[in-house]
Amino acid sequence: MGRLGGKVAVITGAALGLGRATALRMAEEGAAVAVCDLRFEDADALARDLVERGLPAAAWRLDVSRELDVQRVLGEVAERFGRIDVLVNNAGVAGADKPTDQLTEAEWDAVQAVNVKGVFFGVKHVIPHMRRTGGGSIINLSSIYGLVSAPDVPPYHASKGAVRLMTKTDALLYAPEKIRVNSVHPGFIWTPMVEGYLKAQGGVAEGRAAVGALHPLGHMGEPDDIAWGCVYLASDEAKFVTGAELVIDGGYTAR
Ligand code: NAD
Repeated sequence: MGRLGGKVAVITGAALGLGRATALRMAEEGAAVAVCDLRFEDADALARDLVERGLPAAAWRLDVSRELDVQRVLGEVAERFGRIDVLVNNAGVAGADKPTDQLTEAEWDAVQAVNVKGVFFGVKHVIPHMRRTGGGSIINLSSIYGLVSAPDVPPYHASKGAVRLMTKTDALLYAPEKIRVNSVHPGFIWTPMVEGYLKAQGGVAEGRAAVGALHPLGHMGEPDDIAWGCVYLASDEAKFVTGAELVIDGGYTAR
């Protein structure tokens, strides 16, 4: 039995990047995984691969910015797998990379709708399921950009700062019900999101080296660096961990 044997885990934004790596590692550690994403075909391909390997999984098309969608999908997951023990609120967008005085209201709102409201809807609608089974683990993807600043992506910084504190409030609210809530703060990890960010900044190859050098360990992280942190927080190894910030950043914020 793996570290997550008997648990059911829902991962949002699980078609690509950090969510995909987390779904893979959680499944290999024994969890039944619900692979949820806007990109249904990619999510479904991942779920099928897992099932072919004998690991329980299924895919759902999900837009985390739509409350009814979130509520319905969580209900369907609970029906399919019998319970929900873990929710990874991973879906996120980088949004417009412009100085604050040049941003439109729509650009601001587009980021908050996914990164902040998506987490709110996820927590709101998973609580009844976790309450029913007597506990659970909610893992919210914040960022180093929710801890320290940089002169870029203002709506993203705001959203990740919000997620950091929403996590602590919910940790306190639901601790009496044995529902743990923690945030994960990755440094730059090589995923399609970071590739897109570097493209917008000018050049991918030079950007990758320059951004990598911002991390004292000398390079960007890889998706599994974050996935293993999520496995830990989801597991009973972390049974006394709630309201915590798990920083996985190659030393970026240690300065
Ligand atoms: P990514 O862009 O590579 O993948 C994000 C996934 O989320 C995609 O599959 C996308 O289709 C999905 N998604 C986007 N909007 C959605 C929505 N409304 N509903 C459902 N799914 C949606 O991103 P990533 O780099 O893997 O990042 C994952 C999370 O980690 C994000 O919250 C991001 O902000 C955070 N993060 C990433 C890094 C990094 O360096 N990669 C660093 C810090 C924090």
